[in-house]
Amino acid sequence: MTQTPTSSVLVHPDELSRRWIDRCADSGIPTIALHPVGGNDADRSMADLLAKTEDPDFCALLSYAESRGLSVEYEMHAMRYFLPASEFASHPDWFRENENGERTPDLNCCASNPAALDYIAGRAADAARRLTSPLTRPTHRYFFWLDDARGGFCHCEKCRSLSPSDQQMIVTNRILRALKAFDPDASLAYLAYCECAAPPVTVRPDDGIFLEFAPFERDFHAPLDDVSVAKNRASAEPIPALLALFGTDGAKVLEYWLDNSLYSGWKKPPKAFTENKAVVHADFAFYRMLGFSDISTFACYLGEDYEALYGAPDIRATAEEMRRLCND
Ligand SMILES: [Zn+2]
Repeated sequence: MTQTPTSSVLVHPDELSRRWIDRCADSGIPTIALHPVGGNDADRSMADLLAKTEDPDFCALLSYAESRGLSVEYEMHAMRYFLPASEFASHPDWFRENENGERTPDLNCCASNPAALDYIAGRAADAARRLTSPLTRPTHRYFFWLDDARGGFCHCEKCRSLSPSDQQMIVTNRILRALKAFDPDASLAYLAYCECAAPPVTVRPDDGIFLEFAPFERDFHAPLDDVSVAKNRASAEPIPALLALFGTDGAKVLEYWLDNSLYSGWKKPPKAFTENKAVVHADFAFYRMLGFSDISTFACYLGEDYEALYGAPDIRATAEEMRRLCND
C-alpha cells in the first residue's frame, strides 16, 4: 500500500449537504467523511447511519459527491454497535471485566475471548458491506473505532497484562481479517487516542493496519510542537514510536481544527466559529515534516444550521493546507 497524500473533513451524517460537498470540491479537499455522533448513543447513531444508506435523499448526495470528484468515507466509534449490551445475558464472557472483577456490558469487550472477537468481526464486515456504496468510488479504508471512553478495557485474567493499546490492536487486527474476506484491499485504522495514544507493546499490527493519530487531549490554542505547552508536549510525545511501529505510509492525522462541535461543547445551537489560522499552518508544517500522508480534521457543527445563524464558515487556512498537501 502506498498512500498518495490526502485529506478529509469529518461531518455528522445529517450535515452532509450539497453546500459541504461544493465547499470541499471547490477547495480541493478530496474526501468528505461521515462521522456519526459518538458518546453514549454511539450505537444508535451508527445504526441510523446504516439505515441512511438506503435513503434516496442520502443516496442522491452520495451521487452528487461522486459527480464533484469527492470520495466519501465513514469514521466512527463502532464497538457498542458491534457488541450490543443485549448480548450480555447470553454471553457475559464476551464482555469486559472491570476493576472489581465483574463482567459488564458498558464498554468495549473481552479482547481474549475468541467467540466475542468473531462476533464483533462479523458485525464489522456486515457494516462495511452496507457502507460500501456503488454510487461512490471505494477508498478501501475503514475506520471502526473502539468505544469513546476512558477506563473501558478488560481486566480479566487473560487481558490484565495487555495495555489498552494492545487490547485495541487485537480487536482491530481481527476486524481487518473479516474485512479482507470481502474486500481484499481493505485497510483499517488503529486510532491512537486517549488511553490508546501510546503504541501497543505486545501485539503487532497486521498488514493493512494504518495509524490514525487523534490528539484530543492537546491544547488547541497553541501549535502541537510548542514544547512550552505541557498538554501538547504530552500529546506529541508518542508520535515517533507510533510512526516507527505503524510506518508513515498511510499514516493519518485526525485533528480538531474545524471541530465546532468540540468548541460548542457538543451542544446545539452551534457557536460562532473562528479558524485559528496560525495553529493550522504550524501544525500542517509539523505533521508534514513527520511524514504523515493524510492530514484531516473533524468539521462538525458547520452544517446548514450553522450557516443559517452565521453564514458560511471561514475554513481557508485548513483548505489551503489540504490543497497544498494533496497537490505537492
Ligand atoms: Zn478479557
